[in-house]
Amino acid sequence: MRKKISLAALILSLAACNVEQPPATPVTEAAPTAAQTLVHNARIYSMDAGFSTASAMAFDSTGIIHNLGDEQAMLDAFPEAERIDLGGKTVIPGLIDAHAHLYGLAISLSQAQLRDTRSKEEVIRRLREHEKNLSDSDWLLGAGWDQNDWPVKEFPTREDLDRAFPDRPVWLSRIDGHAGWANGAALAMADQDLSGDWQPRGGHIYRDTAGQASGVLIDGAMALVEKAVPEVSDGLLVASLDLALQQMVSLGLTGVHDMGINRSVVELYQQRIRDKAFPTRVYAFTDGAGATLDWLCETGAIRDDSGLLHMRAVKLYIDGAMGSRGAALLSEYSDDPGNSGLLFMPREDLDAHIGKALGCGFQVGIHAIGDLGNRVVLDALESVMGRYPNNPGRHRVEHAQTLTASDVPRFAQLDVIAAMQPTHATSDMYWIEERLGADRVPYAYAWRKLLDSDARLALGSDFPVEKVNPMLGIYASISRQDVEGWPPGGWYPQESLSRQEAVRGFTLDAAYSAFMEQDVGSLEAGKRADFIVLDKNVFEIPVANIPAIKVLQTWLDGELVYSN
Ligand SMILES: [Zn+2]
Repeated sequence: MRKKISLAALILSLAACNVEQPPATPVTEAAPTAAQTLVHNARIYSMDAGFSTASAMAFDSTGIIHNLGDEQAMLDAFPEAERIDLGGKTVIPGLIDAHAHLYGLAISLSQAQLRDTRSKEEVIRRLREHEKNLSDSDWLLGAGWDQNDWPVKEFPTREDLDRAFPDRPVWLSRIDGHAGWANGAALAMADQDLSGDWQPRGGHIYRDTAGQASGVLIDGAMALVEKAVPEVSDGLLVASLDLALQQMVSLGLTGVHDMGINRSVVELYQQRIRDKAFPTRVYAFTDGAGATLDWLCETGAIRDDSGLLHMRAVKLYIDGAMGSRGAALLSEYSDDPGNSGLLFMPREDLDAHIGKALGCGFQVGIHAIGDLGNRVVLDALESVMGRYPNNPGRHRVEHAQTLTASDVPRFAQLDVIAAMQPTHATSDMYWIEERLGADRVPYAYAWRKLLDSDARLALGSDFPVEKVNPMLGIYASISRQDVEGWPPGGWYPQESLSRQEAVRGFTLDAAYSAFMEQDVGSLEAGKRADFIVLDKNVFEIPVANIPAIKVLQTWLDGELVYSN
């Protein structure tokens, strides 16, 4: 929610303005009286090109930064400003996730989150909390339960749910997705009578001694109930989007590049922006070169007056993922002889899709995971870009996960951005070596090689595939370790980024990759006051402690949108 929180409530110590002080020398040429707010007593990392630091920053009521500088000079220069003493805490620009799925996160949050519940009672509590978002027609859906986490490790029953939810259908999928737990109202909606002694193909219905379905359905039986689940209602969708946005700002994200959304999602975002319920900036990519691109090509790129929604980019795919061996490789998978993955489309089609996007003046972001996928994408960009000299470029390879030595330098040569997700490396490192083999792995998740070749990185998480918290990505890119510190010394640590490079990938370079570096991505005079206050200094604490950094405040356009 983009609620205005009273600034007065925030002022931790409002020192009386010392009128006896000599007239201040203006620190900036902008009229100092226009500045309304001065945050001070802070360790501000501007993330500008020179990595400069300051202890105070002034911005005006329109959210534009006037200046940054040293404590006393700024207090003197902006005597009228409302002062906010940040108690020596660290300030960095608002973080930008350069590849994620905001709408996907909202959809996942439209279900109650039941992971790590310690008892059935806790499940009921979470469900009751979640039910507050539902309209009358919604089912109560949830995911992530695991009876092994509870004191009694047997499958639960419908009665466990019926006491709390006698009327509204409840359908909860198990953590592995291979079982569903229903209440009586949901079982009654199944398209077949579930009682008796029959079993569906490839599935199992658990029954009580009277032959009635007892609540848990396995695999092929799940569809009997799932078929009856209605589509998410508009009300629930809005509530889930609000939850997703709230989660983002609470973790310090003031921007996200939303990969692959259609017109109805765009219109949902525009509605919430008009409702003043949108506390972060979205730079959106269309879902391919189809109807959404046709629409935008006709109506023109979106640059919402609020500054909160920009859309002038197209998401394309060339291959699949490593986990399912769908990524296209130049030679076979090391753990699956004969299989080298698949290209989603022939070169001609890829060229045509890129050409269509570039012809509309748009940027492309092309998903490429395997070394063949990446090569084909680089080849296609190389051949198509020249035909559209007026297109502003900054095209991106999304993931750029596995490369070859000869393709690494092509990113810089072609001025193509590598949009990468550090936590993918630390999620995949347990098994990727076996899959790719020792020769290819050094060119996978190769952030350092790309940076050293002068390529530009834009960093993100790919949430909800990975967790939303950008501190996990910053940590992973520096440590190349999981949060337990495995492996000691880091996984292929020669690919590690410095802290400065990591934060830059989530700020200024993420902004650049969305054509927004004139407005956001660093804290400089003339830019938007999008910044976050951290409880620990990300540039100084031990790397192992970075994942635990808490965001104390998130500011967007000079307005507090989250406070812890
Ligand atoms: Zn993605």
